[in-house]
Amino acid sequence: MGFKRVLIANRGEIALRILRTLRDMGIEVAIIHGREDRLSIPVRLSDIAYPIYSSNPLDSYLNIEAVVKAAKELECDAVHPGYGFLAENAEFVRRLEEEGITFIGPSADVITLLGDKIEARAAMEAAGLPTAKGSSEPISDQKVASTLAEEIGYPVIIKAAAGGGGIGMQIVEKGDEFASALKLCQSRAKSAFGDERVFVEKYIQGAQHVEFQVLGDGKNAIHFGERFCSIQRRHQKLVEEGPWLDDAKRTEIGNLVCRGAETVGYKGLATFEFLRDANGDFYFLEVNPRVQVEHTVTELITGHNLVELGIRVAQGEDLPMKQEDIKWRGHAIQCRLNAEDPKEFIPSPGRLWECHFPSGFGIRCDTHAHAGYEMPGCFDSLLAKLLTWGKDREDAISRMRTALDETTITGVQHLIPLHRRIMDEEDFLNREVTIQYIDNHQELLG
Ligand code: ADP
Repeated sequence: MGFKRVLIANRGEIALRILRTLRDMGIEVAIIHGREDRLSIPVRLSDIAYPIYSSNPLDSYLNIEAVVKAAKELECDAVHPGYGFLAENAEFVRRLEEEGITFIGPSADVITLLGDKIEARAAMEAAGLPTAKGSSEPISDQKVASTLAEEIGYPVIIKAAAGGGGIGMQIVEKGDEFASALKLCQSRAKSAFGDERVFVEKYIQGAQHVEFQVLGDGKNAIHFGERFCSIQRRHQKLVEEGPWLDDAKRTEIGNLVCRGAETVGYKGLATFEFLRDANGDFYFLEVNPRVQVEHTVTELITGHNLVELGIRVAQGEDLPMKQEDIKWRGHAIQCRLNAEDPKEFIPSPGRLWECHFPSGFGIRCDTHAHAGYEMPGCFDSLLAKLLTWGKDREDAISRMRTALDETTITGVQHLIPLHRRIMDEEDFLNREVTIQYIDNHQELLG
């Protein structure tokens, strides 16, 4: 049965993105919001807005019992978590399951499995996905860890089992740096995720970040191809684009990720992240069990509304199409217009005095921002996602230059100057991009 009313447990651009699709589908939109967001566009456009005010603004979106109470009081059939906040919180999913409210995403058990990078690695290795050499268990003993690192060969990377957002990762070049890096990673993991378990993995040098978009209905899975997301700062993406691979590689890895999703009975949207080394070999990193910021790139090149598909499988529908129905057309690029200074990437909150976003053929801009909007400092600094589509990569890049030049944002600092330089940079134009791109191109900053 179709949903009648859905609660959006999120804010900002993704809340608006979800709201639009719920409207298209004829589903009533309820939304929770903190004090900072009470005048925001998604709150104003919703059918029902439910305030959850708290002294710490983040708690408005992180308080499980308050969100469950909102969903119950508002008689919502389902909750859409978006990304971040409670999107990967198995306890939240369990609470909703107990109350008979559908979580738009995978089950609590699948989230628990995939949320643990060590377990996820093991499960995907068993399903036939290639992984980097590394520990199959958490490492706490320094001797065990450094013996393993010797075996794998330096450099290695120490990562939090519960990790996310690139937090805590430590790259270790040689043996005598190991002990302090291990301690640092454990303490960062403990404070960020309340879980100090870490593991060691081969550090893939000169790697590219390539990820696959998947949709599962709990039984079967299909993929929507790949996105290339190597332009990152502090392990967080700045520019995403697609397609990137040739058809044969897409089919090969695409088949593997679908099998991976099917073995865990995956329901909903998922992203399978990989590193790809200079030889073109793939190494599974993790599964993000939710809609991702950059799902938009895939929507532009496949023409499918991914958020709608995620809602439809959550309603209990089977996959509405077959793998061979998915076609790729042209090329799309996304620039994340964060409210940050374009040199140090320090958040730049404040009021937007002027705000003009581009539009026109082949342009999409997902944003909740508008003139007069007060960009809060307490949340993520993502202000807008600017996308262009072109018949090929060159065409998409030219259109991105035009679109960036047309965008006007005054009142806060933002990343437009950086993106504009990237669009003219030679290595970028030649597709010579690895995850070290920003480190290797300091001239683009400032
Ligand atoms: P998180 O969940 O914290 O985002 P991921 O495992 O997805 O962590 O990795 C995020 C980024 O960290 C990757 O895109 C890459 O830049 C870097 N990274 C992670 N693992 C490795 C590795 N084994 N070798 C090289 N870089 C890595």
